[in-house]
Formats: sequence, C-alpha cells, structure tokens
Amino acid sequence: MRLLLALALAASWLDAQGSVVDLTILHFNDFHSRLMPSPQGTGGAAHLATAIRRERAHCPRCLLLNAGDNVQGSPVSTVYRGLPVFEVLRPLKTDAFVLGNHEFDYGYERINDFLAAAGHPILAANFQTAEGRLFTEAGHVIIERDGLRIGIVGVLMEDLVPGFTSAAKFGPNRMLPALATLKAEAARLRDQTDLLIALVHLQREACDEIVATLPEYAITISGHDHGGKENLFEVDGRVGARLRASGTELGRLDVRYDQASRKVIQANWKKIPITARDFPPDPEVAALVEKWESKVRAVVDTPIGQSSARLDRPGTRAWIESVMLRKTGADFAHMNQGGVRDILPEGQILARHIWNIMPFDNAMVVAKVAGKKIPGFIRGAQTLDPEKLYSVVTIDFLVEAWRNAQDPALQDFGRALPLDGPMLRDVLIEAVRQGQP
Ligand SMILES: [Zn+2]
Repeated sequence: MRLLLALALAASWLDAQGSVVDLTILHFNDFHSRLMPSPQGTGGAAHLATAIRRERAHCPRCLLLNAGDNVQGSPVSTVYRGLPVFEVLRPLKTDAFVLGNHEFDYGYERINDFLAAAGHPILAANFQTAEGRLFTEAGHVIIERDGLRIGIVGVLMEDLVPGFTSAAKFGPNRMLPALATLKAEAARLRDQTDLLIALVHLQREACDEIVATLPEYAITISGHDHGGKENLFEVDGRVGARLRASGTELGRLDVRYDQASRKVIQANWKKIPITARDFPPDPEVAALVEKWESKVRAVVDTPIGQSSARLDRPGTRAWIESVMLRKTGADFAHMNQGGVRDILPEGQILARHIWNIMPFDNAMVVAKVAGKKIPGFIRGAQTLDPEKLYSVVTIDFLVEAWRNAQDPALQDFGRALPLDGPMLRDVLIEAVRQGQP
C-alpha cells in the first residue's frame, strides 16, 4: 500500500515536471526609427541586431517580440514616411510585432506598406476596417517552439482619435476595446495553445491591468510609455515587462512555465544596455542603415523657409513655445532652455537648422491639469482657479524629470501629463514651412 502510494506520488511528480517548460522572450519597444546610435553611443539597429544574435545563441526556446512604435523619431522616418525602419529591422527575424499609435503617423494606408516590408506578422486584434475585417489580417499568431504552442495576441489603445492620431490619419477604420478583445481572443485560443502572451501597445496603467485582471495571459510584453519598467511586474503567476524607448535596451525574460496551471513559476528579467562599444555592428543591418542614412543626409540639407530675424537662445525658446501654443491652442507652454541647442538664424532656414536646435527626440505632450497642480514656473504671475482645468503643453523629457523629482507636488504634476505625442521637431519644421518663424 505504502509502495503504491509512493509510486502514485512519484508519477504525479513526474507529470508536474513534464508540464514545466522553459521559455525565453527577447523584446524591445518604441524603437522610434533610431537606426543610428545616439551621439553618446547607445542604441543603433546594427548594434541591437548583434545583441539579439548573441542572446539567441544561448536560448533553446526563444521568441523575439517588438511592442510597437517602430517609426517616428529621426529624419529617415520623417522623410521616407517610416518605411526604412521596417526594411532595416527585417533581418532581426522578429516573431511578432504589435502596431503602435505612431504607425499611424503617415496615414493608415501606409501600414499596408509596413506589412509588405516587415517580413513578420503585425498584430492588431482590435483594429478593424470599416467592413469589420482585421486591418493587418492578424490579431494573433500561434508559434510552436519545441512542442510548446505559444499564442501571441496583439492589441493597441482603442482611443487613438483624437489623443494619439488625427481622424484623417485613422481613416474610416474602427477600434474595439483593447482588454475585451484580449479576453475574447483568449477564449478562442485557449484549446489551441499551451501559453498565451499579450503583446500590447497601451498606456502603462492598462498594461498593468492586463497582468492584474486577465489570468488567461501569463506574460504581457508592452510598449508605449517610454519610461519602461524598473522591475518585472508580477501578480499570481503572471508577469509584465516593458523597456525604455529607442532601442537602447534589449529585454531578456527567462521564464519557467507550468502548462498545467498555466502559470509562470519562476521569472528572471534582464535589461541589456545596447552600446556600440559592447556590440559591434551586424554587417547586414549596418549596410541597410547606411543605404537609408546616406540618402537622408542630402534631404536634411534642404531649405524649408525663411526667418526674418536672428533669434538668440532665449528668443529661440520663446519662438518654440509660441509654436507649441499655436499648434495645440493650450493655455500654457513650457520648453526648457537646456533643450534648445542652437539658435534660429536670419534668412534661409534648412531642415538641418531645426535638427540642430532640437537634436533630441522630444515628443510634444499636452494635457488638461487642475489649476492647483500647475507649478509657478509655468503659470507665472497668473492667479488660477484651483479646480479649473487648464491645458498645458510641454515635452516628454520634462514630464519624465518631474515624475522623478523630489518634490511630491512636481511628481503629481508630472503624472498628470502623458509621455507621448508628435515629435516637437516635426512640429517646428512644419511651422517654418507654413511661414511662421
Ligand atoms: Zn506609443
């Protein structure tokens, strides 16, 4: 009797062992067309490619996921409307990509060109044509790795218009609620899969909500908020990860997963800094980067308009704030002097002048904030109604700094503002083109 019991226990122990598997997910998000390394030598597509190749070499059951916003952020994207980024990243052999809000920046039709160039599925389970077809023709993929059937479902924020893109760029299409779509897809895919991954491009609160409230998804890989996550977000056998933007990090998430309970029983998350020093360029990707960057060098040196006066640095800053106010109709604009790296000269203005004034990829962000939260350096001498909402326009770089400030009031103000919007540099170039220097 004892022996039988012992045998039965051993058998169930073996069963449990058999249902436990190891899986590695390499991931990045918000690449934002940083084909070249930064002036500080971080990031760069060819260096990222080498890091991915090295990690794959020690990765028996491995996936590469990209959580959206490949485009917008350097001249090569602005000039060639995003397409080079998908062509350059194609050799990475990404397993799945979720559409981000910035993929709409050149109009929804351009997404068809991204689909053709990418060489990998572009997931968007909640983005439909007016006729109710999936726009990208893929809401999910099922990938088998060494006997493990992995379902990956992609969704992006449903409130794209007007917060993230214009009605014109969104076109006649429609969005379904992101979390409800994930839930419905999970119900359909459960029997065909051993593990479900949510690959999402959503506001950070929604990313955490998936991990906290959708037990169907053991793993959530997200993008959109450029700040990334400090630590892996873990709730009852489920995990969520997100990196900082611009291809400056590669994520490696190693999980031990129990197929029987559909839970992660152990997870280790590593953020690998991408530097030109540590990762020599991958020759194939480097050649593609050079092909596009050499073309764009000529384009950036093109005239975009005239300036009637030479502005000094404070004058250039005041000009930038006036453009921000005109563009958004906000009550207050704030740009930091340190972010203004050059002056607006008199006479003919080249696109490169604006790139020199604004070399950082600052997103212009706008939100309504209660009067009582708006700090003195923004409201100036004005007395504000503490409960009334005023719109404030500024840049994501400052919002991130305020969120991490010592002063709790400034933290609170920072949290009231988003971290994503159009590139301020593109807004300034457009203003010069429209004769508003
Ligand atoms: Zn985004």
